[in-house]
Amino acid sequence: MDRTDLLRQQLEALSANFRLRLAEELPALGRLASSLPPDGRDGEQLLELRGRLHKLAGSAGTFGYPQLGSKARELEQLATACVDAAPDAADARHRLIMGIAGLAQLRETEQPSALPSQPENGKPVTADLSPLIHVLEEDDHLANRMSQTLESFGYRVIRHATPRSLEVAMRVQRPDALVLDVSPGTSGHALLSQMAALQATWAQSVPVIAISNSDEFDSQLEAVRAGAQGYFSKPVDLAALENRLERCFTSLQSEPFRVMIIDDDLDLAQRFEAVLSNANMLVEPVYDPRRLLQQMEAFLPDVILMDVNMPDFSGPELAQVIRLHDNWLRVPIVYLSAETDVVRQMAALLKAGDDFITKPISDDALVTTVYSRAQRARLVSQALARDSLTGLLKHADIKEQVELEIERAQRQHLPVSIAMIDIDHFKLVNDHHGHAVGDNVIRALANLLRQRLRKIDRLGRYGGEEFVAVLPNCDAESAKAILDEIRIAFHALHFSGTEGSFQCTFSAGISACQAPSWHGEDQLELADESLYEAKALGRNRIIVHLRP
Ligand code: GH3
Ligand code: MG
Ligand code: MG
Repeated sequence: MDRTDLLRQQLEALSANFRLRLAEELPALGRLASSLPPDGRDGEQLLELRGRLHKLAGSAGTFGYPQLGSKARELEQLATACVDAAPDAADARHRLIMGIAGLAQLRETEQPSALPSQPENGKPVTADLSPLIHVLEEDDHLANRMSQTLESFGYRVIRHATPRSLEVAMRVQRPDALVLDVSPGTSGHALLSQMAALQATWAQSVPVIAISNSDEFDSQLEAVRAGAQGYFSKPVDLAALENRLERCFTSLQSEPFRVMIIDDDLDLAQRFEAVLSNANMLVEPVYDPRRLLQQMEAFLPDVILMDVNMPDFSGPELAQVIRLHDNWLRVPIVYLSAETDVVRQMAALLKAGDDFITKPISDDALVTTVYSRAQRARLVSQALARDSLTGLLKHADIKEQVELEIERAQRQHLPVSIAMIDIDHFKLVNDHHGHAVGDNVIRALANLLRQRLRKIDRLGRYGGEEFVAVLPNCDAESAKAILDEIRIAFHALHFSGTEGSFQCTFSAGISACQAPSWHGEDQLELADESLYEAKALGRNRIIVHLRP
């Protein structure tokens, strides 16, 4: 069964559930309304009635009963008038009772609207393959070097000697990027004018990186017009080219957004969960708001969807509890509210929170709102937390990740490995080739680590040419094997410097443990000691220390 069918089934089951709930709720509301004492001394009962109408107003529209939902909202406002003991309260009470009887009729007559279409963003997840790059390069030597370098970064490379072969391959399968030598007079240059037609085969255009022996403005302009996102003059700095390639991909293959939902209406929470999951987001409902902070620590949400009215606490109160903690200042809180009273919405926003979604909300609108909020939050927190040279986590943030992952490993009784990685004799690189070339080396190692490690691994730039990687659910042996592969790949890279081409190595220290029982600080220290040992033993090697 594909994902669309699965979602449809889930939504149908939830709607069926809701119909059953209506069958009980409406008569119960009727009983509650008719038992309201006529003398006005009925605060408790009225409040209860209003609360239930509020909930109904929020959910009915979403489950395909828009008329019933808006009627419930009117009645909720009537109930409010009764609670406030407005002068015409007696009349309001009468209308309330009649209105609730009317709700039951609406349920009989209103045909639930059809299930919504699948949201735009709900594309199936593509298999997690390494990116496929087509290269068109006549120069054998450069082509070989390029294939070797890109493959060592984990790309799949197919080399073409003629535009014809590239065109045929492009029509069979969409590559993830093209690297074209467009030097004047070559066949690649002739291909530039046909790029638009070639790109038209694909819904999303393929990023192009141009290589050329000319750095004239006109050549660059021509390349841009053919869709180039990078331009490298010969001799090509392959590490920089790889870096550019990676930048083309990062926005496309980022991790799914993580959304937390806090709503006391479980049916509604489940429905939102189904819709957002189908749009490739990871969703976690919170059933017990008292455990909210612990759950946030474990789940690390990008966005929080928060109901405004709940039985024991209000949404704004919970939002304020979240905002008491510095680490959660960056997470947007979006209220999910059946509240149409603008003044009250404003008050809720002023206390804490970033946005409002008014229930009922269409599935597409829900996905779009959450998606844009999450995307923006990620961008902002990346800009704040990421190192500008490498795009990796900064010192303090990777340290925090070490702590978090070790705590997670403790809870789940899983192994975890921490690696401290340091480039060997890096001072010499700077001395011989200058700081800018040194920067390229740092960036290349960062990219290599990012490419080779898994998505769940955490990676940070700990200091100048020093990195920390956290490998959850990875024992000592596997961690050593992975880093050894990366070590060999890094050593195989050729950098171009002022004094010609050169190579680099790194050393690493790993501290690994099965189900840790201590703190991140200690484990980092052990990794650091292991690194020191690796340096002392002659560098370009990996030393592992295991803790029980
Ligand atoms: P070892 O093998 O013992 O690690 O030797 P090393 O030369 O790599 O070690 P050391 O820590 O003495 O030198 C690291 C150098 O890295 C010193 C510093 O100038 C340089 N460095 C630090 N940050 C950056 C940076 O962002 N860019 C560049 N190009 N160099 C940096
Ligand atoms: Mg060093
Ligand atoms: Mg160092």
